[in-house]
Amino acid sequence: VKESGKNDCILYSESWSNSSLERLTLQHEMYRAIQRQEFVLHYQPQYDIGSGTMVGVEALVRWKHPIRGMIPPGEFIPLAEESGMIVQIGDWVLEEACRQNKAWQEAGLPPMPVSVNLSLRQFVQHDLAGKVAKVLEKTGLEPQYLDLEITESMTMDVAHVSRCLIALTNMGIGISVDDFGTGYSSFHYLKNFPIDRLKIDRSFVRDIQQDPSDAEIVAAIIAMAHNLNIQVIAEGVETEGQMEFLRKHRCDEMQGYYWSPPVPSTNIEQMLGSAYIQ
Ligand code: C2E
Ligand code: CA
Ligand code: CA
Ligand code: CA
Repeated sequence: VKESGKNDCILYSESWSNSSLERLTLQHEMYRAIQRQEFVLHYQPQYDIGSGTMVGVEALVRWKHPIRGMIPPGEFIPLAEESGMIVQIGDWVLEEACRQNKAWQEAGLPPMPVSVNLSLRQFVQHDLAGKVAKVLEKTGLEPQYLDLEITESMTMDVAHVSRCLIALTNMGIGISVDDFGTGYSSFHYLKNFPIDRLKIDRSFVRDIQQDPSDAEIVAAIIAMAHNLNIQVIAEGVETEGQMEFLRKHRCDEMQGYYWSPPVPSTNIEQMLGSAYIQ
């Protein structure tokens, strides 16, 4: 970066050149990262609120960069979305999560769904449902053990996304709406798409005990979802008080630092092994 030329450097301020060069460099390096196997998945447990048992895991991607160390998804997913690389990364994430979940089952661990985050960009590709079917066939994972998390966005072809989701649901795959309540079209989603579960965004969960309107909103989301036969999971649960509130309002599942942050696959094996085997 520094040796790129004696003259160009003085044209730009340090911070400007740093940030845009950084972006370009990262984007460039991302292309090689898949082949070099620099991406890894961590898994965050999801628990049944009533019994406290682990009922699922969410796969969250990390980039083990050879020089920069572990890069969190917040720093490269937006770049990957911009450049379109998210489709290749998403393909890798989907296959790796399915492979891992099948391996856990074969090791005798209690079967449970793995949730995979889908970028809306992945819906634009041809025949998403067909692609998912191929991954399930290749990895041997049964469809009920895969859950796809989708986020709300204004810019999408509703009819197309709806067709994709119906095809996926008909295969037996679960569909969750991520970050529920933060988008522009939360209710539109519930009305038009075959949704199995919604995830209450952590911004609502955070102040559940301090902010009466957040408490009202969360209680109302849970009641409404249940009337529509949709399961509810709360994300970002960090305290016992938040958990108690959610339990009292009959939220179904929860996920958050209170129980566990996202962890490497071996930690999940230990958690599940100690709870079920022996
Ligand atoms: P998300 O899907 O909403 O994932 C939840 C994020 O909240 C994760 O951050 C998780 O570590 C964090 N989190 C979990 N529990 C708590 C808690 O109790 N408190 C707080 N403050 N945070 C908590 P992470 O792993 O850094 O991921 C950030 C985002 O990156 C994800 O948000 C998701 O939008 C995106 N992402 C991650 N992996 C993938 C992927 O494979 N594909 C796509 N398209 N996006 C991904
Ligand atoms: Ca998610
Ligand atoms: Ca979320
Ligand atoms: Ca989010």
